[in-house]
Amino acid sequence: MTGRFPILVTGGAGFIGSHACKALHQAGYLPVTFDNLSTGHTDAVKWGPLEKADVRNQAGLSAAIRSHGIRAVMHFAASAYVGESVERPAFYYDNNAGGMISLINACLDTGVKQIVFSSSCATYGSPACGRIREDTPQAPINPYGRSKLMCEDMLRDCSAAHGLRFAALRYFNAAGADPEGDLSERHDPETHLLPLAMQAASGRRGPLQVFGTDYPTRDGSCERDYIHVSDLARGHVLAVDYLAAGGSSTALNLGSGTGHTIFEALEAIRSVTGKAVPHELAPRRAGDPPSLTADPGLAEETLGFRTERSGLEQIIRDAAPSFGLAAAREARHERQAAE
Ligand code: UDP
Repeated sequence: MTGRFPILVTGGAGFIGSHACKALHQAGYLPVTFDNLSTGHTDAVKWGPLEKADVRNQAGLSAAIRSHGIRAVMHFAASAYVGESVERPAFYYDNNAGGMISLINACLDTGVKQIVFSSSCATYGSPACGRIREDTPQAPINPYGRSKLMCEDMLRDCSAAHGLRFAALRYFNAAGADPEGDLSERHDPETHLLPLAMQAASGRRGPLQVFGTDYPTRDGSCERDYIHVSDLARGHVLAVDYLAAGGSSTALNLGSGTGHTIFEALEAIRSVTGKAVPHELAPRRAGDPPSLTADPGLAEETLGFRTERSGLEQIIRDAAPSFGLAAAREARHERQAAE
């Protein structure tokens, strides 16, 4: 790994962070993971060293930056459950906004000027249906989204005051898994739609609850834009390259540009895996906007970023093995072999 340009990756042991580390490695960088392992996994840290510490530990961050000769940071370490943020707002502000302050101070302390930040479409709140552009007003409707918007504001102010340059990547719904099987989605507890639905389809848990069927969407269920985690990871590497080449501070959507309702997602799982998703109708979940779909144009213009694996069926095909499901064609072959 000698000679590789080191990038600090806070939250590098988590779902998106670990895929970003792999993408960094493939692009010739050395990812240095900084993670307290509260939700991440040691065995997901495969492409560089691990510094086990909390992102709110500013002295620890500064020490890691100095000891690894870091010039740029990707910041993923945060709490990321909308529902939990409604129940534990102070914790979200402490971890997410507090973590950002700590990281900015460590960057100012050590002279690091480039930050790629894991922001979210949750900063837009509940915009009118249609594709969301970056100039859509940001009006988050839950503490998670507000904590991410606070981080963007901090970055903007510190960019103006101190010459930091940042790329705030507002992602839509990250899903899927590394196509080569090196990494997968493992949250504990799991709260995200596609993994829960695949677990229900494979019989690893009971029926999926569909939260809310009276939204103003085509079938009454919430609509989301799912982006493959490997595409997302590649977008982060392009943002590192963009800042390294002198790009100015920016905020960009990372999404596929296509929305799918919950019922459409359940049907896609059935069609890809051959297994229906047992489900029951349930009340709305607090904090959920009806519809979030990206306009991905600015990221393409700025970074040359285009999704490659973010068709919903491709996302499901790549994730299925980690949930004990096979894509339908493989499932048929297995059945034939057994006969
Ligand atoms: N959802 C659901 N049942 C579940 C988990 C999620 O109906 O068990 C819905 C959730 O209410 C939202 C959508 O699926 O409308 C996507 O939720 P997820 O938690 O995956 O991502 P979010 O959009 O909240 O970041």
